[in-house]
Amino acid sequence: MAARAPLSVNARATGAPGDVPATGAPGDVPATGAPGAARATGGIRFDGVTVAYDGTTVLDALDLTVEPGEVMALLGPSGSGKTTALRAVAGFVRPASGRVLLGERDVTGLPPHRRGIGMVVQQYALFPHLRVAENVAFGLRARRVPRAAVRERVAEALDMTGMGAYARRHPRELSGGQQQRVAIARALAIRPGVLLLDEPLSALDAQLRSGMLAELARLHRELPDVSILYVTHDQVEALTLADRIAVMDRARLRACGTPQQLYRAPQNAFTASFVGNANLLPVTVRAGGALLGGAELKVDTQGAAPGATATLCVRPHLVGLGDGPNRLTGTVREIQWRGATHRLYADVAGHRVMADVRELRDPPAHGDQVALHFAPDDAVLLPAGVGADEERR
Ligand code: ADP
Repeated sequence: MAARAPLSVNARATGAPGDVPATGAPGDVPATGAPGAARATGGIRFDGVTVAYDGTTVLDALDLTVEPGEVMALLGPSGSGKTTALRAVAGFVRPASGRVLLGERDVTGLPPHRRGIGMVVQQYALFPHLRVAENVAFGLRARRVPRAAVRERVAEALDMTGMGAYARRHPRELSGGQQQRVAIARALAIRPGVLLLDEPLSALDAQLRSGMLAELARLHRELPDVSILYVTHDQVEALTLADRIAVMDRARLRACGTPQQLYRAPQNAFTASFVGNANLLPVTVRAGGALLGGAELKVDTQGAAPGATATLCVRPHLVGLGDGPNRLTGTVREIQWRGATHRLYADVAGHRVMADVRELRDPPAHGDQVALHFAPDDAVLLPAGVGADEERR
C-alpha cells in the first residue's frame, strides 16, 4: 500500500505548524458554546463517490449515508478503499465523480479546514516539540479562536479524554494509549460535527485497545450529536462500537446494516465471513431444503429454485456435536481447547465445518468420526459465493 503522510484535519503533522491553513473564517468553528457542545451537521452522505489513482478505481461509486449522531464503521480488508472514503470526507482526496455532503452542505470542493471535521489516525501524529495542551490547542489557534476560548476548550477536551493531568507533558513522556487520547482530544477540541477515526486503535496492544474501545463508546454517549465514521479491519471494534457497519471489498460497498442484521442475516458470503465466523457450504437447492454432498438439509430456501447452487451459512456456535436435526457426518481434523469452549474442525463431504461447543470432558480426537447438527432456523441460504478468506486464495 502507498505510504501515507500522517495527517490530521486540525493539525497537519508536517512538523511545520505554519503549514496548517488558518481558515481566516473563525465563524467556521464556533468559538464559544456550552462545554462539550458539538456542532450538529446532519450527518455524512456519499453520493456516488468515485476515486481513482493512476487510472485505477479505488472507490467505486460509493453511496452511503451516516445519520446524524450515528457511528458508522467502514469494515473491510486492507486495500478495500476504507481510508480513501474517509479521506474524501476529510477533503484530502478529490473524487473523480460524485459528491460528499455534510448535512445539506455539499463540501466536495471545500478544503479540509473548512469542513468542521475532527480526524484521528493510527499514528497519533502529535507534534513532538509541543506539550500536550499546545497540541490540543493547535487546531483552535490555526482557526484563530480567541485565547480564553482556547484555554476553555483545551481543558474540556483533555478532561473528556482523561488527560487533564498531563497537559504540560511532551508526547515522548506519554504511553501510546495516552498519545492517542491526546490525538482524540485534539480532534474534539474544535467541536466537530463529524469525527473521522482511521484505525485509531491499531497501534495499541490488545489490552489497551479494549480499554480505549470502552472509552470511545463513552465519548460517543457524551457527544450524541457527532457523526462518527470509523475505519477498521477489526470486526470486534466494528461490532462493539458501530450503530451500523458498511462492509467494503475491492473498492465497493458489499453490505450495510446494523451489526445484528449483518451477523444474523448477511446478504452475501463475503459479509458473513467478515462479520463473525461462518461456515459457508456449497449446496444445491431442493424443495424445502438443500443438499450438501449426500446429506439432505432442511432450511428456508427463500424462494430459490430447486437445482440452483447456493451457499449455506451457519455460525460455528450454532453447530452442535452429536445427533440432531440437519445431521452431518464428519471426520475431526483439528480440535482446539479455548477455555469455555472447544473449537472443532471437521471434514464433511470434503468441506470444512467449524463447531464451537461447550468445553468437552472427553473431546473427540483427530481422525474420529463425529455427528454434527444445526437447527433449520439457524442456517441462512445465500447466493452462491465464497468467503473473504477463500476469495483471496
Ligand atoms: P484501506 O483503507 O481499505 O486499506 P485504502 O483506501 O487505503 O484501503 O486504499 C485503497 C487502494 O488505493 C489500495 O490499493 C491503495 O494501495 C490505493 N491507494 C491509496 N492511497 C493511494 C495513493 N495516494 N496513491 C495511489 N494509490 C493509493
